[in-house]
Amino acid sequence: MTRSYKHLFGPVPSRRFGRSLGIDLTPFKICSYDCVFCQLGRTTRLTLARENFVDLDETLSEIEHWLKNDGKADQITLAGSGEPTLHAGFGEVISFVKARTRIPVAVLTNGSMLYLPEVRKAAAQADIVKISLSAWDQESLEKINRPAPGYRFEQLIEGEKQFRNEFSGKLWIEVFMLDGINSTPAEVAKIAAFVRQIRPDRVQLNTCVRPPAEESARAVPEKSLRELATVFEPAAEIIAEYRAADGGEVKVNEQAILEMLQRRPCTADQIAEVFGMHLNEVSKYLGMLTRSDLVTATHRNNDVYYFARKNSGRAACLKE
Ligand code: SF4
Repeated sequence: MTRSYKHLFGPVPSRRFGRSLGIDLTPFKICSYDCVFCQLGRTTRLTLARENFVDLDETLSEIEHWLKNDGKADQITLAGSGEPTLHAGFGEVISFVKARTRIPVAVLTNGSMLYLPEVRKAAAQADIVKISLSAWDQESLEKINRPAPGYRFEQLIEGEKQFRNEFSGKLWIEVFMLDGINSTPAEVAKIAAFVRQIRPDRVQLNTCVRPPAEESARAVPEKSLRELATVFEPAAEIIAEYRAADGGEVKVNEQAILEMLQRRPCTADQIAEVFGMHLNEVSKYLGMLTRSDLVTATHRNNDVYYFARKNSGRAACLKE
């Protein structure tokens, strides 16, 4: 049985990073946005105020323990139940990790707080920073991302542009496409024009492959996404389905699967890949968890996704 941590999760499958150890600095669900496509569900605390939402010393001590006793992952990622840059000490977490391991550190952020110089400075210590941009003006930002009151589209764009000027690591932008909301060629051209100004190293197009916050958030068909990818500079990549190179050394049991599902909904195939297990074995665990009422399943885009029920522990998942 692996030690269970309060602020670490995984390693879990990530379509960007292989097996990623997550560090979750925001209790469910504190965010500066309340995106219609969020796979975590609705934001319960919508805020622009940065605080020590979780205890910094406790988090650093968990990281130290994990590095000493396990320490195997392709990536260490600040992500989780909300917006990581809202934690006032996220920069200290990055410097702590960087001083102790060569495992690359990534920050998955919506980019909203990068208008603050101290947030840019803290994030710039990471190896990879993935920001997001799915809107082209105030109106579309409010429709898609539903930011905290008073937040302006200009803050987002200027913050992301300024960060590019100051950050020498890899900057990726994720554009989340929603059918009927931001996916017409004219809308995409406007988003792409802003992306060009930010000068990212990579552009990634995503859509609702996992169950979103709102039923109205609909996926853009793959064929359309491929056509829209050529509008971006550099040309956007469609985020491929996750494939783990080797899940053999990750320890697995019912609790590990439950903890993973508390972080994000997954298909049985995804669980099998990350843990290097046969699908039959995954099915056995999922069967036990479902019968115990800890996990439930839902159909989405021809796949069955498994969720941890709210009463199974913390209701959160990995946002990529
Ligand atoms: S998708 Fe990310 S930025 Fe949007 S509400 Fe969810 S956690 Fe916040």
